[in-house]
Order: sequence, then C-alpha cells, then structure tokens
Amino acid sequence: MKKAREFYFLFDLVNKITLPEQDLLINKPKADKQMGLFATDDIPKNAILYVLRPMNCLKAATTYTIQYDDNLHIPDESLKVAKYTNHGCDPNVNFFFVETDEKEIQVTASGKRYLVYCVAKKDIVKDEEIRFDYLTTEYDMKEKFNCSCGSPLCKKEIQGFKYLSNELKLNHRDLIAPHLKKYLIGIPDPRPKFFYFQDLLNKIPYEDSKLISVKQNSFKQNGVFANFDIPDGVLLFHMDPIKCWDKPDLYTVQYDDKLHISHPQLHLAKYTNHSCDPNIDFKYILTDKKEIDQTADGKRYVVYAMTRRVIPKDTEVTFDYTTTEFDMDAKFPCKCGSKLCRKDIQGFKHLNKEEQMKIKYRIAPHLKKHL
Ligand SMILES: [Zn+2]
Ligand SMILES: [Zn+2]
Repeated sequence: MKKAREFYFLFDLVNKITLPEQDLLINKPKADKQMGLFATDDIPKNAILYVLRPMNCLKAATTYTIQYDDNLHIPDESLKVAKYTNHGCDPNVNFFFVETDEKEIQVTASGKRYLVYCVAKKDIVKDEEIRFDYLTTEYDMKEKFNCSCGSPLCKKEIQGFKYLSNELKLNHRDLIAPHLKKYLIGIPDPRPKFFYFQDLLNKIPYEDSKLISVKQNSFKQNGVFANFDIPDGVLLFHMDPIKCWDKPDLYTVQYDDKLHISHPQLHLAKYTNHSCDPNIDFKYILTDKKEIDQTADGKRYVVYAMTRRVIPKDTEVTFDYTTTEFDMDAKFPCKCGSKLCRKDIQGFKHLNKEEQMKIKYRIAPHLKKHL
C-alpha cells in the first residue's frame, strides 16, 4: 500500500526541521505548449511546496529569475523545479521570505539573508497548475506581458509592482517580498497592521491585535467579532498555557491529554464560540519559554488564534471545538448554520473517521495520536 504523503507547513519551521526534497511538483507543457508547473498530488493549504535557497544571485533579471532584492535575482540553478512557475493574478501559492543565518545564502543590501518558501495559499488538487503572482516579487520587469490566467481578478498587463496603482499596491501589502515594502511608504493606508505567522519566524515582536472585540451575538451570548476586514493567516491573539487545569469546563481549551488552559490565560478564547466551519484555528507553536506548562511528551507550546480565511468586519469569529477538545463532558446542539454542521458537538473522539481525517491538519498536537 502506498504510504500516505507527509506534508510540511510553515508552522513546522519553528521546529527547525530540514525539509526533505519532495516530488510534489512536475514541469510539463501546457495545452498552449508553454511549460508550467503542476501538482502531482492533492496539496493542503499552508503546506510548503518547495524552498528556494538563493545563492550567486544575478544582477539583472532574465525570463526565469525571481527577484530577491533591489539588484539581485535568483538564478535558474537555485530555482530548480520553480523555474516554470507561471504567473497568476489570483495565485494558489505565495512566497514567504524567512530570515536565515546560513552563510552560503546570498546576502541582501540590508545585510539580511532569506530562504524563500513557496506555500500553498489554498487547497490545491492533483494536476492543478501552480501559479504565483509575479507582482509580489518583481519590481520592474524587462518586458511586459499579457496575462491569460483567466481569473476575474486578472490585471491583464503585467510589468511589475512599479506599474500598479497605489490601490493595487496596497492590496498586495502583506504578500510582497521585503525589497518591495519601501514602495508603500507614503501611500495613505486606512487598514491596521496585521501580524502573520511568518512575522514570528522573522522575530518581529508579537503583540495581540486590537482587531477583534467581545459583543453579544444573535443568540444574546457573548461572542468575538472582527473590528475590520481581516485577511487570511492573521494572528489575532495568543494563549500562554501556564498553570493549566487538570479538569475542563465550559470555557477551557484543551492543551494536552490532561491539561486545559485555565480562565486567566484564555483571553478572548473564553468568548470564542464554536462553528463546524470556523474562520479561525488554534495553532500550537513550540516555544522555549520555561514558564509554559510542559506536555506529557516534554513539549511547550504557545497557542495562537489564526484566521483561516478572510473575516469581513462585524462577522463573528469562531473556532471548531473538536480541533482541540477530545471528549467533552456534555454534548451541545450546534446552531452554527453551516452546511458542514455536525449538529451534536462532543469532541474529536465522537467524530467518525472521515470527519476526523477532514480536519487532520488543523487539530491540536495531543489529538494527532487518535487518528
Ligand atoms: Zn491574470
Ligand atoms: Zn455546527
């Protein structure tokens, strides 16, 4: 029997794992005879497709290079499988620049070195073409071209970030490479700053955001609501599991088999209601902080609330209790109204195998052994 494929996520990088070479992708000619990059398997959202290790960058761009800094372009040799990644205006992957100390990696003008991670922005199905938005890396391309990506968001003529209107530049704000950020300075931006997981990797000091607040929902219960339109992948608040409780109650969040995050550490999780199709997940991110409770297998995690799709302003923020709770004291009838609603909620243990597999990339570490 074919062994199930393993995927690696941006979240795994805090473990400092070395990603194995994977055969997730293949280059082949498309219907129009142009080369393209295609998925050889279904790939879940947030999975890493490949890592670029920029070395010996070129001073000038070619047709295939990816821009790394103002005057540095990643050459073919470093691109490997990525060489034939075509452009898309509504792409299924994005590049994340994550700082590294590795001395052989090309240094930028600001003295930094980056590994460039290609990450799935959405679930990708087998044989789907992999596309990224060239405007997130290229400032001024040698030649413009007419895009035929077919997306309703298609910008038609692609020539680099430089040629975008201020409005479109701002739309790209959180997805662009570090060397493009300076071109946003001075453009009035009504939106707050959003904090992403990759900011944690780049050691940008984290603070809980003011993006959400507690209000009454339509059932006259407390709920958490978005104060702004919040993009996908944004960290909203965090929990430090310190002095965990050994018994759950209605509000606690399960941290390990016998540990539950206590009320003082829950912050807004206390008011975050359940949905079977939630718009946030709790991400358990390894930490060295000694004050954090250790799990039975000797690990420590900070738990971050992260959006899993765009949350429009005034929408209630919800998470799926079955992604953290194994076996709840009492079941409750869900009224989330989602097409995916499971009606009775009593924890991960009470889901059937198919339902458990559907959420396997989103569950807390202590639930993984039950798969
Ligand atoms: Zn397009
Ligand atoms: Zn439901």
